[in-house]
Amino acid sequence: MEKVKIGIIICDRYRTCAGGKCFRSLRNREGAFSIYKDMDVEVVGFTTCGGCPGGNIECAPEEMKKNGAQVIHLATGFVVGYPPCPYISYFKDYFEKRFGLKVVVGTHPIPQKYYEMHKRLGTWDSPEWDEIIKPILCDEETRRAYD
Ligand code: SF4
Repeated sequence: MEKVKIGIIICDRYRTCAGGKCFRSLRNREGAFSIYKDMDVEVVGFTTCGGCPGGNIECAPEEMKKNGAQVIHLATGFVVGYPPCPYISYFKDYFEKRFGLKVVVGTHPIPQKYYEMHKRLGTWDSPEWDEIIKPILCDEETRRAYD
């Protein structure tokens, strides 16, 4: 079975998160991890961005790459926080151009309570956001399982 090594970076506002939803969705191949359905996945790094504007962003991917990371996931918290991280596109571009790493925005499915609030706020009402949230939107039943 083909194997992929990944690193996960979370938004620092969730710095005490133990990664429960990320690791559950990885195990179940849900949300952004559904792309690895028929693959073996090893997590070779897990850290926070370091706090706005991303003090850990400059070097963390390099450490992960040294451990074999091929893909960096920016955790779903980047997208669902109030407000979402304003630097998502910049970080993605930087990781790709500086380290040659593939970047996926998202980890676990969007929890339903965040989905409903952001719908009310109109946070994701743009074609750009449509693209960003696509892999972690999932169906309502799945979103509710991650509340
Ligand atoms: S909003 Fe962005 S830069 Fe700020 S702590 Fe979260 S991920 Fe880091």
